[in-house]
Amino acid sequence: MTDNWQTSQKILVILAHPDDPEFFCGATLARWARAGHEIHYFLLTCGDKGGNGDVTPAELCHSRHAEQQAAAAVIGVESVRLLDLEDGYLLPTLDLRREVVRAIRQEKPDILVTCDPTNLFPSTTYGINHPDHRYAGQVILDAVFPAAGNPLFFPELLRDEGLEAHTPRQVWVALTAQPNVTLDVTETWEVKIRALKEHKSQIGDPIEFEKRIRGWHTAESTDEDPIYEEKFRVVRFD
Ligand SMILES: [Zn+2]
Repeated sequence: MTDNWQTSQKILVILAHPDDPEFFCGATLARWARAGHEIHYFLLTCGDKGGNGDVTPAELCHSRHAEQQAAAAVIGVESVRLLDLEDGYLLPTLDLRREVVRAIRQEKPDILVTCDPTNLFPSTTYGINHPDHRYAGQVILDAVFPAAGNPLFFPELLRDEGLEAHTPRQVWVALTAQPNVTLDVTETWEVKIRALKEHKSQIGDPIEFEKRIRGWHTAESTDEDPIYEEKFRVVRFD
């Protein structure tokens, strides 16, 4: 299984926060944009708690919209939409599942990208995966199957909005502990770094930040000759 698609694919990235696409799989998205695929972002919150109280959530929400647009432009993304739900309080409700089904039926992507809801400890040594990431992954996978492709789910979307059932051909699940696809993304790692640096409110000192991201090369490669990878659980419906 690879991303060696023969025709231009429509790719919809649905994640919780501004900066999640670039952190989780930015080098892959940049590689896909450069290969001529069409990428759209749909982010569920505006990341209004991604700070320490220096600025208000409303101000942070405003600046994170702009930062996400700038980062997406570096990656080569065609459109960015934010649902502006409150950061940190995301839940996999039926209402949110309907919103995601609506987005999938509106955009009709070939490929959908999200993150793994089961990954509670993404690092062997550090931290807990943010609940928004886990609940976003959960509600998005639940929207893909069995809802988006079955007209009996949320029939009001067809009745009132004319949105027909649609299942993406493949779902690429990032930030997973159970990958079945590993991409060598060394060629677009610089693009990922440039895009991430647009998230100015999130990265602290940009020089230290860049050093940290450059350090994410494979254990077998070196600082002088680094190899970078991004891993996914790919689920096929085609
Ligand atoms: Zn996040």
